[in-house]
Amino acid sequence: MKTILTTINAKYIHTSLGLCWLYVVNKGRFDISFREYTLREDVETIAGEIIETGCDVVGISVSIWNAEKSRLLSLLLKKQNPKIIIIAGGPEVSYEPGYFLKNWEIDYVVSGEGEFVLGELLDALKNEKEVEIAGVSSKTKISKITVKADIEKLLSYPSPYQLEEDRKEVKNRMIYFETSRGCPYRCQYCLSSLEKGVRYFPQEYIAENLKYIIESDVRQVKFLDRTFNLNKRHTAFVFNFLLKNYRPNLSFQFEIYADLLNEAMIDFLNDNVPENYFRFEIGVQSTHEPTNISVMRKQDFPLLAHNIHRLMDGGKIDLHLDLIAGLPHENYERFVKSFNDVFGLGAKEVQLGFLKLLRGTALRKRASAFGYVYDEKPPYEVISNNDISKLELDRIRDAERALEKFWNSGRFTRTMNRLVSGEYKERYFELFDEIGHFYNTRKLPHSAYQLEDLFRYLNQFLKSKNIDASATLRDDYYSNFTIRPTGYWTDRIDKKSRRKLLYAIAQNEEFLQENGLTGRVIEKQTAIDRLENGKYLLTVYLENERKQLEYQMDQMDLK
Ligand code: SF4
Repeated sequence: MKTILTTINAKYIHTSLGLCWLYVVNKGRFDISFREYTLREDVETIAGEIIETGCDVVGISVSIWNAEKSRLLSLLLKKQNPKIIIIAGGPEVSYEPGYFLKNWEIDYVVSGEGEFVLGELLDALKNEKEVEIAGVSSKTKISKITVKADIEKLLSYPSPYQLEEDRKEVKNRMIYFETSRGCPYRCQYCLSSLEKGVRYFPQEYIAENLKYIIESDVRQVKFLDRTFNLNKRHTAFVFNFLLKNYRPNLSFQFEIYADLLNEAMIDFLNDNVPENYFRFEIGVQSTHEPTNISVMRKQDFPLLAHNIHRLMDGGKIDLHLDLIAGLPHENYERFVKSFNDVFGLGAKEVQLGFLKLLRGTALRKRASAFGYVYDEKPPYEVISNNDISKLELDRIRDAERALEKFWNSGRFTRTMNRLVSGEYKERYFELFDEIGHFYNTRKLPHSAYQLEDLFRYLNQFLKSKNIDASATLRDDYYSNFTIRPTGYWTDRIDKKSRRKLLYAIAQNEEFLQENGLTGRVIEKQTAIDRLENGKYLLTVYLENERKQLEYQMDQMDLK
């Protein structure tokens, strides 16, 4: 009996640790292999490839982002081979197995951590035994149990981080790593709130596998631990290990509960972490206490803000702060305040998400109490509730797109910093809201645009507000390149005149000597702009640096 485990990842760089665990635990007993696909791939091709393997059983790991494609995949697989047995697992299907067994072309649902349960199920199928397994549901029997795998038992299997199959590709992919499973908190919109208790992997196991990863050519590792810094000793152990084994060109991402950081830990991080080595994702979600209380989210915002400020002062760790729009009891105005509170902390990235009413969560069960209207299809995103209308949420969605393009992309740092510390000081949301509105009224594209276009649009927006930020925009533009760009965000100087101007400057021996440049560098590696003071700005792209010089053009130069 041949089994294929598969999943559809959001992007090629993502990897599925869950699939690797299922594989390493079961490969000794069954003819089993795994295949990962991405959302970009055509689902018919995926189905065709799986059918071609001649497998008898397919296990599909389902999450909200791949749910629709997974549904289609199971449909196509059954259509091409009605005898194929399909097992679905993963967070999307775990908590409402009955719904999926009724509406999808699948035979079984595994609820929870399926490493050992999958083995029991495959064994039953292989030996044609009746399927009576806790955590496994079929069309005729729904199990109410969500299983947890015994961590001690997992340790006796080959490591999912050291698979020969993955070796070649790790360099270009994100490695997911877990040092614990479960979350002690009860945030009502989150699936992790349904797991009770936190279980840790032993330190020796963590150290051995992290060492292997550090010694490979992996560049990015993301810890899957739901609240990485829950246990101080555990956190200190992992941080110390990573610092002791520091390797350049490698970074680690953690989900941090910032209220739990203490002064000693922050001092330790600020004093010891090399730049670009750690990145913290910190969920703030809302700064409105009634909102946090209604979703049972514990938060001490003043303490959280203090801790974030201290980390920011250290300047070593990249911070990424999360906010959620559409939570209960947060109307448009109060959401804007949450946004401004969080944005004002000054993080490099602010991720603005929209509430998803996930299957199995307590909030989805109580949705009518808050008047929730949400998309029936995954990812079940909020449309409106008693406190916020569809129109208001759509307006926030427009602002979110502007936030992504002009802040989180990191391509407009100087201009945006100038705006949020000047004209839009403490009115951060207004900035993104107004850019979103500008985009809407001019029907500007949200996809298939060039970098130059974004600069042009932002420049047009700023002009419409009578803000002249052309100098910082120009600096931002040139800082996006390490070699002279072929396009220019302004068309103030046409191509022919540009060539003529650069040629003239390249003949000025005195200027070249003074600045240690050659004529060739001026002609081939220099961008030129006309300044308001009548001079020209030269942006010279040298091997390891970018130099900016002003040049006064003499009419004689052009003769
Ligand atoms: S949102 Fe985070 S802290 Fe809250 S239950 Fe989920 S994983 Fe735990």
